This record gives sequence, structure tokens and C-alpha cells, in this order.
Amino acid sequence: MTTMTQEHAAEQHSFEADVSRLLHMMVHSVYSDKDVFLRELISNAADACEKLRYEAISQPGLAADGAPSRILISLDEDKRTLTVEDNGIGMSREELVDALGTIARSGTRAFMERLEAAKANDKAELIGQFGVGFYSSFMVADRVDVVSRPAGQDQAWKWSSDGKGNYTISPVDPADAPARGTRVTLQLMEDAKSYTGKWAVERIIREQSGHVPVPIELVEKAG
Ligand code: ADP
Ligand code: MG
Repeated sequence: MTTMTQEHAAEQHSFEADVSRLLHMMVHSVYSDKDVFLRELISNAADACEKLRYEAISQPGLAADGAPSRILISLDEDKRTLTVEDNGIGMSREELVDALGTIARSGTRAFMERLEAAKANDKAELIGQFGVGFYSSFMVADRVDVVSRPAGQDQAWKWSSDGKGNYTISPVDPADAPARGTRVTLQLMEDAKSYTGKWAVERIIREQSGHVPVPIELVEKAG
């Protein structure tokens, strides 16, 4: 357990072996359609908003601020970052560890087995078909930071990784976290810097996330 006296110490964790294998495969796949990472992050953000809406039926206090669900995507060309923030259900420390450090989904495990068995030429198609979820961020980012504050809780947590086997978890100052929900920041690779361009990102959202039930706002940070 993390106690208050350890407040600012980042705890180091290793990914489950399967996650490391998956990440390695993704980073080294010759997958050209890297755009799917954005679809995955938007779909997670929308899921989180839907989960909050559902939970708030029995626990109205969770969404007491009455703020409408929204997904905010911000682009910063100077810092070369792309950020997807939602005001959904959020993740506790334990949820960050479980959701982003293991392969909890049986679908992902089955997918991995197929990916490993597939010939190099077929791997790209498999990734596109299945949608590899959160970990697809590491196709375009060399660092991913996830700051999350669960609905109804004060404490926020930061998960951070370069996708190479380890991640850290640390408590964050509430002032540096969303009021509720999750902020995923991708530090984009040099050859993925086009994802800080508003038109490019707008096009991907239109093409891949047209039916998301939560409004998406796109902002470009002025340099
Ligand atoms: P899937 O969405 O299919 O479950 P992902 O790899 O996309 O798989 O995400 C893994 C898990 O991480 C999700 O099931 C969810 O529990 C958690 N998660 C990811 N992004 C968010 C988010 N923005 N808000 C809350 N939980 C999230
Ligand atoms: Mg998902």
C-alpha cells in the first residue's frame, strides 16, 4: 500500500510478461495504419463516460457536478504531445495497475496468440481487425502518461511508461489532475509528430470515431 508519507515516491512496476510481449510486437510490427491508436483512446474515453452515467443512476453523488460528458483532445506541436481527456468514471490506483499493467481481457490474449502465429505480412491486418486497445498508443508514442481521478474521490494517480517493460505509479497533486476522469498524454515519436496537426487529427476522428456518443472537442495549444 502507498501511504501518505511516501506521497511523492513513484513506485516502479513491471508489466505482466504478456503485456511486454504484446508491446514488443506492436512497436516492431510494420503496421502502417497507426491512426487506430486514436480510435482506441477515444473509445476508452467514451466507455468511461458511459460507465459514469450508469453508475450515477444508483450513486448520484458520483456525477454531482452535473457536468455533461465530454472528450477533450489537445494538441501541442511544440511539446509534440497529443492528449485525450475525459470526465468519465476515472481509475483508482488499483484500477490503473489492473487495467494498464496486465492483459485482463481474454480477447487480447487470443489476439496475441494469433499475432505471434501470423506471418509478418498478416500481422498488420490482424492489428487493424482486432483493435488492440490502450497499448496501441505505443505505436506512436515513446512515453505515455495517464493521470486519473476516480469519480467521487479526491486522490489522483499518475501511471507512466515508455512501453519497455516497466511503468511507474505515483500520487499526483489534485491541481494537476482532471476534476474527474482520465487524461492520457502521448509524447509522440519524432516520426509521429503529424498527430499534433489539427486537420490531420480532425480527419481521423471523422473517419474512425464518427459514432461516438460523447461530444469530442479538439483544441490546438498556441505555440
Ligand atoms: P478495452 O477497452 O477493450 O477493455 P483497452 O486496452 O482499450 O481495452 O483498455 C483497458 C482497460 O483500461 C479498460 O477496460 C478500462 O478498464 C481501462 N481504461 C482505459 N482507458 C480508460 C479511461 N479513459 N477511463 C477509464 N478507464 C480506462
Ligand atoms: Mg478500449
